[in-house]
Amino acid sequence: HETIVSRILEGLNHNQKEAVIAPYNGRLQIIAGPGTGKTKVLTSRVAYLLLHEGISPQHIIVTTFTKKAAAEMIERLETLLEGQAVDLSKLLIGTFHSICFRIIKMYGKKIGIADYNIADERDSNQLLKEIVDTLNRGDLDLLASMPEEEKVPLQNPKDQKYDIKKIKRQISKLKSSGLSYENYHKVGDSSRVLALFYGKYQTRLQEHLLLDFDDCLLRCLELISHYPVLNFIEHVLVDEFQDSNEIQLQLMYNFARGHPTNPKYQNNVTIVGDPDQSIYGFRDAQAINFEKMNDYYKLKYGKSCKAIHLIENYRSTSDILSLSETVMRQQQKRIQKTLNSQLTTSFKPVYKNLKSSDEEASWISYHIQHILALPESPFKCSDIAILVRAAYQTRSIENELVRRRIPYVMVRGRAFWERPEVVAIIDYLRIIAHDNDRVAFIRSLNFPKRGLGEKTLESISSVAAREAATTGISIHDTLKGLVSGEIKGVKLTTKNKPTLTTFLTFLEESRKMMDEIDEYLSIEKVSLDKRQDMLSKFFKFVVARSGLSKEYEEQENQTLNMMEVEKQFCSFIPQEMEMPLYIGGTEEDITSVNQSYLSRFIESIGLYETETATSVEDKAKGKVSISTIHGSKGLEWPIVFVPGLSEGLLPASFAISSGGEEAIDEERRCFYVATTRARALLYLSSYTTSGGGFYGRSIDKVSRFIDKLNNNKMIKDTQEAFNDWQSLVKLYGIIGQTTPTAPTAQGFCINTFNRLLHSRFDAYFQGVKFPIKTEEFVDGKHIETHIDPVMG
Ligand code: ATP
Ligand code: MG
Repeated sequence: HETIVSRILEGLNHNQKEAVIAPYNGRLQIIAGPGTGKTKVLTSRVAYLLLHEGISPQHIIVTTFTKKAAAEMIERLETLLEGQAVDLSKLLIGTFHSICFRIIKMYGKKIGIADYNIADERDSNQLLKEIVDTLNRGDLDLLASMPEEEKVPLQNPKDQKYDIKKIKRQISKLKSSGLSYENYHKVGDSSRVLALFYGKYQTRLQEHLLLDFDDCLLRCLELISHYPVLNFIEHVLVDEFQDSNEIQLQLMYNFARGHPTNPKYQNNVTIVGDPDQSIYGFRDAQAINFEKMNDYYKLKYGKSCKAIHLIENYRSTSDILSLSETVMRQQQKRIQKTLNSQLTTSFKPVYKNLKSSDEEASWISYHIQHILALPESPFKCSDIAILVRAAYQTRSIENELVRRRIPYVMVRGRAFWERPEVVAIIDYLRIIAHDNDRVAFIRSLNFPKRGLGEKTLESISSVAAREAATTGISIHDTLKGLVSGEIKGVKLTTKNKPTLTTFLTFLEESRKMMDEIDEYLSIEKVSLDKRQDMLSKFFKFVVARSGLSKEYEEQENQTLNMMEVEKQFCSFIPQEMEMPLYIGGTEEDITSVNQSYLSRFIESIGLYETETATSVEDKAKGKVSISTIHGSKGLEWPIVFVPGLSEGLLPASFAISSGGEEAIDEERRCFYVATTRARALLYLSSYTTSGGGFYGRSIDKVSRFIDKLNNNKMIKDTQEAFNDWQSLVKLYGIIGQTTPTAPTAQGFCINTFNRLLHSRFDAYFQGVKFPIKTEEFVDGKHIETHIDPVMG
């Protein structure tokens, strides 16, 4: 153990070591700036707790902000604990959402929700739309009698109609602050209008056995605060604590409650975070949670949490830190802090203002090419990131990268799961896995078109709801009954019947196939390749037999071809399946959560949507990353571009028009997060033009963050950045990614604005000589261009 412990502590500075080896029983807050090794310390501390303190992995909870961060942490732990008998698959690690959902699967039966599924954004919207559309006389009279000021915030100002987005947002806010419907409608000063919708929404969700994203947290909190199901937990660690909201704080307290009779195992918590990087205010995250946590435990133990500050920054050069810090200091109320760069070489950040977003894109791509092409350049595409405030900013940049054949990847996995063809497949997978999923069932029933009218669909849906409530049969069996005539209530034409029978048979066959796969997987240890292969076959079957593949083949401007979708799906599945399913628990609990492979897959996709950005393609090395700033949290690259530093982009126009200091400060923190991702070179740019913004809004001023900066913080002449190429190469030797990865032969890009719909390019940087074909759809026309990769 000694050698392993010294391996864990190797290279850490004094304060980092102190944090890692702090006694496991106690409460520790590590508050420190970007790049000071917070995540590294947290990981090392987990390793230390496992190894030195001998805590079992299943007794530790670690929350990270994204799944990707969890996967990375596990990877680092594997390296640290190599050769040790520690089963890391038992560690309870993941986002709050995924941990809570696993707890619900495991113990949810105590409050009757074990077999609930996740309602995604579409499901929630659909249910709310139904509620708003079907308000009955009584509801309308009631609403009419309620005060205007309660109604206005939920209405569309134009036509006074109830706006489902606004309602959802308000309900979500209540849930994030820990207020269930039962508690909310009892509160004296609550809005009765909101309470009415909240109540109806919860009833709908319950009817469909669904939990929305917020419910995952709220109901889990209800569960663990009433039942001691987690009393085996000995330590809880939280990364990115500044972005936790009230309910997550409450969850953390309850995760850590520990064993009722053994004080040693109670309330042992380690959190790390940086208030300056709090950028999820729109999701009700609150940096004030640092103080709240301290107060909470102070009340219990009579003393504050142990605090450790880290000031050595190992990520960025001093120039990058100095620029970032200066921008933060423009803000009035802030505790100033120091960060000392541990890197000895430094280069001034480069800044340029351009005339349009296209020019800016071209400036960026030029520099990328330039850096990569310099003699003996050690830089690879994967060392470079472009970070934008809003996803729509990537259009020009993507076009330009494609034009110059620079491979890139959009670190924006969520977009993939939102594509219409992907969404349609997920619906099919859902109804195969759960024959009572009424929401997805109704959506799939007439997509692709099966000749059923709106009215018929509605009546099938309501008969199914009636059957579910009275006889408890699934929508699948209800439809079967309707076709055979055993169940009455829907008029089906003679044409409908055979179509529906085919549909039902297809579902039954798919389920059978799924069962066979499950059975096979449960008896044998099957290799990854084999699993992917089986799933790929299953996937093909579903896509073909459901009629989806035909549907999309026929659509001329299909955005993503089915093969590509299949590839993405199948590469995603096994990765997800590695996540542990069992949480503590007895044999009996374990058998009761014996879910099918497919259900687990679908659940993980559902949860995927809770993340702002994670890449499905993050294994795609050798490509420039394009990400939103929000999605770049916790990450780092040797070279970072932050475009769009114009008023209206960063700060975003909604923040400016809200007029509040706080909204601008949140934008400033965004800027800070973006610039502190860079290790060696930072490129900032803005553009000013009339028009050119989103929806033609004009972008005509440089961002206040840049405008106020003293010129000595950055340079405008781009040549100077490289006057010391040798030092840069040397610096790269220290910070560069250690595992060189070759560019992949084919880059896959998705242009969000449908101008350039589907394009492939080849390994330009390896000088591979085969023709590159780009395909563009311009004004509905398909244009193919062949380019010689060497001659350009
Ligand atoms: P953020 O606030 O952005 O999440 P962080 O504080 O979590 O940043 P890390 O990502 O843990 O910082 O570390 C930043 C970089 O510094 C990583 O590359 C990490 O490996 C490196 N690093 C941290 N501590 C040390 C150390 N003692 N010696 C060398 N490198 C270190
Ligand atoms: Mg971190």
